Amino acid sequence: MLNLKKSAAAFAEAKTLMPGGVNSPVRSYANVGCNPPFIARAQGDKIYDIDGNEYIDYVGSWGPMVVGHAHPNVVRALQEAAARGTSYGAPTCVESDLAKLVMKVYPSIEVIRMVNSGTEATMSALRLARGYTGREKIVKFVGCYHGHSDSLLVHAGSGMATFGVPSSPGVTRGTAQDTISVPYNDVDAITKIMEEMGDEIAAVIVEPVAGNMGCVPPRQGYLRTLRRLTEQHGTLLIFDEVMCGFRASLGGAQAAYGITPDLTCLGKIIGGGLPVAAYGGRRDIMMKVSPAGPVYQAGTLSGNPLAMTAGLETLKIITAEPEPGEADYSRMLTLKTKKLLLGWQEKARKAGVAIQAHQAGSMFGIFFNEHEVWDYEDSCASDQEAFKVWFLSMLEQGIYLAPSQFETLFMSGAHSEEDIERTIDAAGNAFEQVAKSRR
Ligand SMILES: *Cc1c(COP(=O)(O)O)cnc(C)c1O
Repeated sequence: MLNLKKSAAAFAEAKTLMPGGVNSPVRSYANVGCNPPFIARAQGDKIYDIDGNEYIDYVGSWGPMVVGHAHPNVVRALQEAAARGTSYGAPTCVESDLAKLVMKVYPSIEVIRMVNSGTEATMSALRLARGYTGREKIVKFVGCYHGHSDSLLVHAGSGMATFGVPSSPGVTRGTAQDTISVPYNDVDAITKIMEEMGDEIAAVIVEPVAGNMGCVPPRQGYLRTLRRLTEQHGTLLIFDEVMCGFRASLGGAQAAYGITPDLTCLGKIIGGGLPVAAYGGRRDIMMKVSPAGPVYQAGTLSGNPLAMTAGLETLKIITAEPEPGEADYSRMLTLKTKKLLLGWQEKARKAGVAIQAHQAGSMFGIFFNEHEVWDYEDSCASDQEAFKVWFLSMLEQGIYLAPSQFETLFMSGAHSEEDIERTIDAAGNAFEQVAKSRR
């Protein structure tokens, strides 16, 4: 049995201090029925709790830690930056350095604005889309999560899906009315809405690879349909690549699927583990943002020098030219992820447990479904009890996974071949446990 004594005590105290003991809901482990480990430190692909347990980490702080924890280049750059002062609230060169590097990999981003969270990025991109088009309605997809701003907390995935809350108290009906949600990966549904009211819709916002209903890539041609429909109606297409950016491929889903959105939201990886996100895109649209234009958006800590430094160092690592004969960083992650998933699939087959395994670059996950998973409804049909047994067995064996079926898992450059083998063996035991629990 895993010893989580100190974590249990720490959690009991935290629950008297913070709602549910946490500062973000999924961390509470509410739907897997055990206490969350409290983390003391992390290094490479390993994370350590306050009871001294070591885990191989596939959560990676929910995506950002693509080069592994405490990468020496990132740590060194941060230490040097911290010694020069932690915030000035004034322009710095490192902001431009990060902007240039991001725009090189995302040519659709002609002008960029840095913010502090993915929530802020999507919220600001929507305000901009509304300001630019003079329209009020937006379309989102059921199970896609775009942060917790009011207009986007309608049929959101992740924590919302986990807790079965379709929307949230506190979001006004007026706000919700301007948000139209349609099923993901369903061409007929979006076509119908655009034909009916496309001319009133400011923007269609989508996770081009969904990661907050579990990992669900788009159907063949789906993103192209979204591009065509939005273009026809003068509606902006916003790719929320906060999660799939630098993961679906280095250039995100837009490079992987060859679609140019009008606006892109980035987050997670671009902060290298510090609070950074960004939105950007077509110059004519972005120039409407204050002070170049009238659409207001600001931030005391936006472009913070420490945060920019962590992002810049992380992106330098993943965009570096590979050694001759070696795969580039993103390809290396994809291959490792493929190996892990093939291993899991084989173990599941041996144990007689039906799973659906999904991968987009270094994003991955499994569903305990007999049938294919294409949308939120499918992902909700995944066997929750099986997931719970699987999750707890993996945790016992030192494999740290997201405690919810609606979250995606992430590979990092720090995961060794040996650790991947260990993870595959652990999965074999975990699938056996699932099979046993069903007998
Ligand atoms: C994580 C995430 C967000 C929200 O980012 P925060 O930094 O948590 O506010 C938005 N969109 C997507 C696709 C995400 O995965």
